[in-house]
Amino acid sequence: MMVENKAALQQKAMEMYAIFLKTYGERSLKPPRRDAMTELIMTILSHRTTNANEKLAFTRMWEHYGSWEAIRDADMAELTALIAPSNYPEVKAPYIKGTLAQIIHERGQANIDFLENLPVDEGLRWLLSLPGVGIKTASLVLLFNFSKPIMPVDTHVHRVSLRTGLVPPRTSANKAHDLLLEILPNEPHILFNFHVTCLRHGQKICTWNAPKCPQCPINHLCDYYHEVFTANS
Ligand code: SF4
Repeated sequence: MMVENKAALQQKAMEMYAIFLKTYGERSLKPPRRDAMTELIMTILSHRTTNANEKLAFTRMWEHYGSWEAIRDADMAELTALIAPSNYPEVKAPYIKGTLAQIIHERGQANIDFLENLPVDEGLRWLLSLPGVGIKTASLVLLFNFSKPIMPVDTHVHRVSLRTGLVPPRTSANKAHDLLLEILPNEPHILFNFHVTCLRHGQKICTWNAPKCPQCPINHLCDYYHEVFTANS
């Protein structure tokens, strides 16, 4: 990234952030909304799934088995049926069992709180070694549960970043993780609130199929808006 380009993008990101905070509010990173093991497994269940169905799948699984060890040892077909409210249960069931097996084998228990004391890069590497854990899930757990300076890029954050021009056209979500960290402050509270408010913006205003550009509070900062609404005026 060119130095002058980086400075302009940093400024744009902070202007967007200030407007997002005013529009959607600011939240505290602590205390975490749930323990780290639960966050990890729920994030695996959340992939391409609504919040309501993610929670339903988790509740059905937990009420049936009642412990991480029992889920690790669960019959694959039975677990797949129980988490069926989540999309792709046949993919997620082996991921969940494999992730639990690896954690319990390596750590002696289903507990990942040791990540608190690891540098962010080491924690990321360790989480990415688990079956079914990608960069979004790993970043979310490290930021939400351990206040590490890293930011998950979900589909909404990815879309808003592309349209506004915070990342170049056709940047993948994985690459956007790196590029956004280069332009946002290395500060967990800001990364958390940028993620949460940008996600909200993607759900409410900058939706996938019908972005509400004329009423968008950041349209003056948005490349897509300038291309579509002001280029020929
Ligand atoms: S102006 Fe439109 S495309 Fe740009 S961020 Fe707002 S809603 Fe999204």
